[in-house]
Amino acid sequence: MGENRSYRGGADGSFRAVQLLIIDKERRIFQDGGKGDGKMSFSAQVKDEVARLELRNDCCRRSELAALARVAGTILLGQEKRQLVLTTEASTVARRIFRLVKALGWGGVITVRRYARPRRHRLFAVHIPLEEEGRLLLPQLGFVGGENIPLPRLDPAVFERNCCRRAFLRGCFLGCGFVSDPNRAYHLELVLKTVQGVEDVAAALSAFGLRSGIGERKEAYRIYLKDAEQVVEFLRVIGANQAVLYFENCRVLKEMKNQINRLVNCETANLGKTVETGLKQVALIKEIEALAGLGALRPQLRELALLRLRYPEASLSELGRLLMPPLGKSGVSHRFREMQRFAEQLRKRQGNPGS
Ligand SMILES: [Zn+2]
Repeated sequence: MGENRSYRGGADGSFRAVQLLIIDKERRIFQDGGKGDGKMSFSAQVKDEVARLELRNDCCRRSELAALARVAGTILLGQEKRQLVLTTEASTVARRIFRLVKALGWGGVITVRRYARPRRHRLFAVHIPLEEEGRLLLPQLGFVGGENIPLPRLDPAVFERNCCRRAFLRGCFLGCGFVSDPNRAYHLELVLKTVQGVEDVAAALSAFGLRSGIGERKEAYRIYLKDAEQVVEFLRVIGANQAVLYFENCRVLKEMKNQINRLVNCETANLGKTVETGLKQVALIKEIEALAGLGALRPQLRELALLRLRYPEASLSELGRLLMPPLGKSGVSHRFREMQRFAEQLRKRQGNPGS
């Protein structure tokens, strides 16, 4: 109750204060990923966030695990016990897989391999038995159909329901996804090994109105989203709500910066024009002065000419305000045109001294 009240806006600016507080709180979770200072990349932070989401339904747990198995799984046959092995470099993802396996009632084991190169590289593997107490894992995950025949495509039941489709995409992202920090670029991609995998993911994406591009690279397929709207929608679909907030904030800040830049450029352009006009008029007045002297101008024009010489950078309206009596911009402009004609006459006379 108290919390709701604190979100309501007030004339005293309390709403703004609360908003800043939220941004600050969320910044603490989502920091700019830097190099070498131990900060997590944006992509890793998104994975960390969705790996902690609670799943209530078994259907979704199955879908997420199926997606992870599809993109990060290998089946080991040579062992005494045949098993599905899911590998990941992220400890949070490994824990996520382990929890999903447990929640679905299977026995799993996590192992860690450490490598000296690349520096302090770790690979986590979750081992799941293919068969346990008469239950078979692969049919449950939609890889194998009735009569134990491997399916060419993942069983559609795995992502039939909307909740499961979200879980499926989340699993794909956790297993083979990457998203750029919105401060740098709008880019999200999933790297898949098979055409069938690409088709399944593209279908799941389009169910949420997401149009993906597909590229091929080194025996793998990349499904990617490039547009800011699409990337943020994907994050929303997989339940990365903190990431969505961070993303939207970055977009707003970027948009504000662009707007300010546009305004500044526009002002600069206008200022440039004013200065240019002023300098041309100064040149004109100097010419008249050289040809006939400023005394040749009628008094109103002379007054304006003297002001212009004193304030070469002033705008026409600024000059108008300095005149006695003051004159509007168009009046000032009119007088300068008169001066221009006067100069032209002087030039003509100068060209034909006989006339
Ligand atoms: Zn579900």
